[in-house]
Amino acid sequence: MALPPAEGEDFALIQDRARLALGLLSQHRIPPTPARFTVAYVHHAGEMPDLSLAVNRLVGHNKLTATAVDEIFDQFYGRQIEEAELRNASQQIERTVNEVVEYIDTATDTAQRYGSVLAEFTDKAREQAADIGSAVSNMLDETHRMAETNRSLEEQLQASSREIALLREHLERLEMEASLDGLTGIANRKRFDASLREAMGAANRDQTNLALLMVDIDYFKRFNDTHGHLLGDQVLKLVARYLTDCIKGNDLAARYGGEEFGVILPRTRLEDAIAVAEQIRSHVASKKVVNRRTGQALGQVTLSLGAAEYRRGETAAELIHRADEALYLAKGGGRNRVMSESNLPAKV
Ligand code: GH3
Ligand code: MG
Ligand code: MG
Repeated sequence: MALPPAEGEDFALIQDRARLALGLLSQHRIPPTPARFTVAYVHHAGEMPDLSLAVNRLVGHNKLTATAVDEIFDQFYGRQIEEAELRNASQQIERTVNEVVEYIDTATDTAQRYGSVLAEFTDKAREQAADIGSAVSNMLDETHRMAETNRSLEEQLQASSREIALLREHLERLEMEASLDGLTGIANRKRFDASLREAMGAANRDQTNLALLMVDIDYFKRFNDTHGHLLGDQVLKLVARYLTDCIKGNDLAARYGGEEFGVILPRTRLEDAIAVAEQIRSHVASKKVVNRRTGQALGQVTLSLGAAEYRRGETAAELIHRADEALYLAKGGGRNRVMSESNLPAKV
């Protein structure tokens, strides 16, 4: 017997999206693993605009492959796992802080009690000198208890502050790792998205220019096919380093995905961004890639780059799209070159 749909679920709508998701995967001959199905389903549901943007971009360039979809899954869902870990660590810090606050409350109670015994003692001492013996012994007992409590509180507080310091370090490390690309060590897509949004905010606020470069390694599939994926990975690391060499200050170079990189250039006009792009291009093209293990020369690696400048009021997706179009113009023009939005036909 079929189960009724859960409250608030529209059976036909969900089934429709599932069908579209499977259709998209099969159209691109991608085996529908649960992760890939999730990406395709969420894309059709329109629940995550950044994920849909990534899918549409690949579809637009006819590059929706199993690997590309796996990568999107890692980018968007790997992130959630990291965020869960971060949440966990900060909850632990909160618990420890609460414990410390409780210790402090106990200390205050004890001190208050001590204070009232002391006041009582003073009153008694004033009123009847005869009773002073028992009052003194009372006072001594209380002082002893107070000293004991203080010592154990001090130990507990020290242990808690050590624990808090460790947790904070752990949290900082997690935050750092969550924003870096595992292979190249430069900023990852998550950091790129956040930094671009921040840079757009700053450009609006301070009325400054902002430029973006999209960078793609030329014929990288051929390099992998000829020399193997491991050497391909080394090239990705090398390119990331060269990119970082060519930028400065508040600029940010990030791995956008696969063999593509994005470079955010705050306070930069299009002409200057083109100059930076040209510097990156020639720097990389001038290097001869060598297999360090065998000394074998692997030839030249080249890049194609597209540059665009932020227009106030537009979305990040629109800016990326123009830089991307310029990049594909550079590819079409023969690769190992820089093109900018000023080379694009008027409509974009
Ligand atoms: P084009 O000049 O048009 O950019 O050609 P291309 O071969 O570079 O472009 P295409 O998009 O067809 O292929 C990209 C290749 O990048 C496919 C894949 O083998 C490689 N690639 C993507 N990510 C990685 C990675 O993490 N490591 C390695 N070694 N290769 C990767
Ligand atoms: Mg590419
Ligand atoms: Mg490429």
